Amino acid sequence: MAELITILGSSGSIGVSTLDIVARHPDRYQVFALTGHSRIDVLAAQSRQFRPRYVVTGSQQSADLLQGQVPVGTEVLWGEQALVDVASHPEVDSVMAAIVGAAGLLPTLAAARAGKRVLLANKESLVMAGALFMDAVRDGGATLLPIDSEHNAIFQCLPCVAGKVETGGVSRILLSGSGGPFRTRPLAELQHVTPAEACAHPNWVMGQKISVDSATMMNKGLELIEACWLFGVAADFVEVVIHPQSIIHSLVAYSDGSVLAQLGNPDMRTPIAHALAWPQRIESGVKPLNLVDIARLDFEAPDLERFPCLALASSAARSGKDYPAALNAANEVAVAAFLAGHIRFPDIATVVEAVLNSWQPSEPSDLDAVQHADRQARILATDQILAINKTKARIS
Ligand code: NAD
Ligand code: MG
Repeated sequence: MAELITILGSSGSIGVSTLDIVARHPDRYQVFALTGHSRIDVLAAQSRQFRPRYVVTGSQQSADLLQGQVPVGTEVLWGEQALVDVASHPEVDSVMAAIVGAAGLLPTLAAARAGKRVLLANKESLVMAGALFMDAVRDGGATLLPIDSEHNAIFQCLPCVAGKVETGGVSRILLSGSGGPFRTRPLAELQHVTPAEACAHPNWVMGQKISVDSATMMNKGLELIEACWLFGVAADFVEVVIHPQSIIHSLVAYSDGSVLAQLGNPDMRTPIAHALAWPQRIESGVKPLNLVDIARLDFEAPDLERFPCLALASSAARSGKDYPAALNAANEVAVAAFLAGHIRFPDIATVVEAVLNSWQPSEPSDLDAVQHADRQARILATDQILAINKTKARIS
């Protein structure tokens, strides 16, 4: 019988790639629910093609708009509780967690608690609430499979015993990153880069928020924290290496000197197909890798002066407590302000740093504590953005 899948964030970049794989394997996968916050036209077209039982949107208004555009047999729901319901419904086998940002936390956590096979793209939920999330996976008996290309690569390179990855004999995890669109841009020019330039990633086509995170390398910082939780290792165990071609998606070094890497063209359909079918392999539509055409693979150390966000995330990872939740929330607010033209690109790091410097840490022992930290950091980040704009107004 076909596996029933809920795709949280189906209208986004990862959601669309997931549906591309699902469409290639109609005998294996059937869509139970699709969700999206806006882009009603995309959700409507997806509903007509995949005929899910439910489609969930962000507001009553968008649900009303969608109502007349879905096929008979598809029910339109809206709001956070509906997301939680379709992520934890007893009939669902797998949940693709591809909502962007903190908004993904509740439904992804619900899927883990309900013991689903959770395909995790929404790294922010793990950054915010790593301990709670991993407890939910364990207590709910869920299977957690990483979608982030680097973590999926690491998962593939680690030993797997009885369906669980192990780190025995592993000496280091090497997390690779391209360095984004501004790796070689003169530092002084970063003051003037536009959101469109920041979103033009050299190797990957992604949603706006993760594209800006890749340009600041906050994305690699969030991924460092994600790796610590996924693989049960300390931040010092993970080394970030810049690899501009994005062909090696990450590596695992062993105590005997062996280093295993996973390679492939930069196309998210590879990790998505891997996680969907694991431990089997299925066709993904990804172009085969031609090493002769690629000809060379380069590596360099990350430049922390150019990428202060990577240093901030690394420090939040080491400080623990609710520092990562504060980092994530401040970054979401700062990235939204940059995309809206309210602050400059280097201000993203300034805002996050100011929030972390004034942070009064506490232990994120339950969901309320995590959500409280998230709200507090958003308030501090918003104050910081107002202060930056006041200073700008005084100068001009
Ligand atoms: P995207 O912006 O293209 O799509 C985000 C999805 O989330 C959309 O369906 C949107 O409607 C939905 N959404 C946004 N705000 C919401 C809210 N408040 N409530 C409910 N739904 C909401 O983003 P993306 O690039 O597909 O990334 C999704 C997640 O996957 C992110 O966490 C990102 O870090 C991670 N990821 C993405 C890629 C990639 O290649 N795009 C790679 C690795 C990891
Ligand atoms: Mg990644």
